[in-house]
Amino acid sequence: MRSLIFLGILSLALARKTFFGDQVLTVHPKNEAQVQAIKNLDTKVDFWSPDSPAGISVGSSADIRIPSEILPAVKVALRRQKIEFEVMIEDVESLVGEQFKSAQGRGILDGTTAYDYEKYHTYDEINDWTNAIAAENPTMVQRTVLGQSTEGRDIPMLTLSSGQSASNPEILVDCGIHAREWVSPAFCQWFVRQLLDEPNNVRISEATYHIIPSINVDGYAYTWTNDRMWRKTRSKNGLCYGVDPNRNWDAGFGGEGSSSSSCAETYHGPYAESEPEVKAVADFMRANKDNVKLYVTYHSYGQMILYPYSYTYDLAANTDELDFYAVQGKNAIQSVHNKRYIYGPGAVTIYPAAGGSDDFAYDTGIKLSYTIELRDKGVYGFTLPESQIQATCEETDAFMQVMHNAVVSPTYQA
Ligand code: ZN
Repeated sequence: MRSLIFLGILSLALARKTFFGDQVLTVHPKNEAQVQAIKNLDTKVDFWSPDSPAGISVGSSADIRIPSEILPAVKVALRRQKIEFEVMIEDVESLVGEQFKSAQGRGILDGTTAYDYEKYHTYDEINDWTNAIAAENPTMVQRTVLGQSTEGRDIPMLTLSSGQSASNPEILVDCGIHAREWVSPAFCQWFVRQLLDEPNNVRISEATYHIIPSINVDGYAYTWTNDRMWRKTRSKNGLCYGVDPNRNWDAGFGGEGSSSSSCAETYHGPYAESEPEVKAVADFMRANKDNVKLYVTYHSYGQMILYPYSYTYDLAANTDELDFYAVQGKNAIQSVHNKRYIYGPGAVTIYPAAGGSDDFAYDTGIKLSYTIELRDKGVYGFTLPESQIQATCEETDAFMQVMHNAVVSPTYQA
């Protein structure tokens, strides 16, 4: 057994892509020519924020991971074109390596009391944890499987409720649409624990919570075994693997901010809901749209509260309401650890990006629908250290509390 575990860790360490000498640069294009020059780096570099070259514009900055092999040439080119930049991350591998080291030698889950919510967990650990936490809390937690991924993994969902709750409003929370945004699944797990530990289980006695800790299970597993910076699903399309699962929903499908090239990080897929992971959650939304009053989907990074629309610059019918709670939520977040979040409709606040889950939930009838970009604002980016999980979750919980109060209020009309 011991040697098996050792072999497992060894093969994990051997197979994984490394990032020695890769740097993340923050660039500041000041004119169209500079924007174009940065966009032309596409295919050779990895856009962290914004998540595709299309989102880059004059006067805004962009975080880009440059592989070590081309780093000197890219820096020369940036300087030649007088594009301002600074180094955001000196050596990506040192941060990535730390996260994998933290998981090494970790025992297989033995009961959820020992589960460490301040660490990043593998898909198998998360899946085992969903079974364990449901078994330990049979009256409050129900585990269902929404469907299977392309590679056949279960997509578990935990439904939390306590007391008489037949007519309670329902809340849908999902994490991990994008594989490399590790702090997102970490939040969903932490949040389940938080709802269960709350005195008198107040929130789950007032509302039914459906929590999906990891939607993009194949992509997430792949970030642990092969490529920490993988974003998409793992379906094969043409030459390349992966569809951007936040461009694959039936909401302005194929429109601006999504790509028709299967190799692009924002590839929308061959048709809406082509990804079984997306279809599983979309089916759940359609079936429960009358009871679900709030949808929140967790991404990272950038510290933002986004609401519809992202597939059009048009404003949602209840923009005032969406904005009102976004402001309250932003203030609640700031009151915890003084982190500042920006907020607004997706298309104007970051960039137009069609086929997203928030817009789909909204158009399906869930009138409070938010995408949250968690910490940070471009220090560690996707490699947010585990030491920040707790604080990130605490402030995010304050946002969830604001939204909870909104939908359980007797005067709330959805
Ligand atoms: Zn994302």
